[in-house]
Amino acid sequence: MSSLTAENLARATALWIAFVGGLFVLRKVVPGPMHRGQLLRDDTRKEYKLNAFYILLLVCALLAVGQVTHAFSLTTVHRLFWPLFVVGNALAILQSAWLFLRGRRARRARGDELKSVLHDFWFGAELNPDLWGVDLKMFAYVPSLIGLLVLNLSFAVAQWEALGHLTTRMMLYEAFFTIYVFNYFQFEYGMLHTWDVIAENFGFMLVWGDAPFVPFFYSIGGWFVLRNPEPMPAYQAVALCVLFGVGLWVFRGTNQQKHQYKENPSAPIWGRTPETVGGKLLVSGFWGIGRKLNYTGELMVYFSWTLCSGTESIVPYLLPLWLVCLFSHRAWRDEQRCHAKYGALWEEYCRRARFRMIPFLY
Ligand code: NDP
Repeated sequence: MSSLTAENLARATALWIAFVGGLFVLRKVVPGPMHRGQLLRDDTRKEYKLNAFYILLLVCALLAVGQVTHAFSLTTVHRLFWPLFVVGNALAILQSAWLFLRGRRARRARGDELKSVLHDFWFGAELNPDLWGVDLKMFAYVPSLIGLLVLNLSFAVAQWEALGHLTTRMMLYEAFFTIYVFNYFQFEYGMLHTWDVIAENFGFMLVWGDAPFVPFFYSIGGWFVLRNPEPMPAYQAVALCVLFGVGLWVFRGTNQQKHQYKENPSAPIWGRTPETVGGKLLVSGFWGIGRKLNYTGELMVYFSWTLCSGTESIVPYLLPLWLVCLFSHRAWRDEQRCHAKYGALWEEYCRRARFRMIPFLY
C-alpha cells in the first residue's frame, strides 16, 4: 500500500482526473438511447442520453487490454487506494464549491430566494445542473459505480498476483458485484424515476455520496475477502448464489414494475392488468406486497457479497448495516413526501400494501 507522500498524491490526482475526465468525454461522445425524464417541480422534463452501459463495456475492454499487455495494471489502483481516497475527498469539496457558486449565481439571476450558505452547499443550489449538455447528477453515477467496480476488480488482481489463483470467495464476490453494476447500467433509465434525480438538488451530499463515499466504502468487503484464506464449503457458495439471485430479482423487478407503470400504466404486471389506487399508485406485483421491496431486494444483494468475506470481522458488515439505516430513514422521508403529494390516496395505498420492507414484520 502506498503512503500519503506528495508523489503518490500527485499520481492519484492524475489518475482520478484522467478517469473522471475520460468518462465525461465518453458520456458526451458515445451514442446511446434518449429518454425523457419525469416531470420536475418547475413543470419541465429533461431529455437524457443514457449510454453508461456502453461506457462500462468500453472501460472493461480497455482495462482487460491494459492488464494483458502490462500497459496498465489494476494493482496500481489497489496500491494507491489511500492517496486516491484523499484526492477523491478534496475534489468532491472543490466540485461542490463550484456547483454552489454557479447555482447561487443562476438563482440570483432568476430572482429566486437564496437559502443559507451551508444549506445550499450541502444540499445543492440547483436541481439538475449540466455542463456541455451533460446532466451532472446522472453522470455522477458513472464514475461512482464504475469506480466501485474498478476498485473491487483491483482486489482480485492483487490476490491473483499474490496467490496465483482466485479463491471461491473472491470469485463469488467479484461475480456478484460485476453482475450488479452491469445490471444497474443496463437499466440506467430506472434512475430517472428515483427520488434523487426528481427531487434532490445536486450539492455536496450527493457529490460526496457518489464519489468518494460509494467506491471507497462500498468496496470495504474486498479487503476482507482478499485476506480470508478459509475455503468456502459448497453449500455456502450455493446459498449465497441463491440469496444474490433472489435479491437481484426482487430489486430489479420492483424498480422495473414501477418504471413500466409510469411509462405505460396499462401494461400487464405478472400477466394481469395493473391495479392502482386512484389511477396514480400501483398496487400490483411487488408494489402490492410491500411499499419498499426494492430496498429489501438490494439489501439481500449487499448481504450476499458481504457474507463472502466470512465472519472474522464486523467491519465489512458496516456496509449492509449502513444501508439498513439509510433505507429506513429514506423510506420514512419518502413516505412523508408521498403523503404530502398524494394525501388520501397514499393513506389508502398504505392500507392495501401494509408493510414497507419485510412482509408481516416491517
Ligand atoms: P423508489 O424507487 O421507491 O421511489 C420512490 C418514489 O416512487 C416515490 O417518491 C413516488 O414518486 C413513487 N412511488 C412510490 N410508491 C409508488 C407506487 N405504489 N406506485 C407508483 N409510484 C410510487 O425509491 P428511491 O428513489 O429511494 O430508490 C430507487 C432505487 O435506488 C431503489 O432500488 C434503491 O434500492 C436504490 N438506492 C440505492 C442506494 C445505494 O446506496 N445502493 C441508495 C439509495 C437508493 P412519484 O412522485 O413519482 O409518484
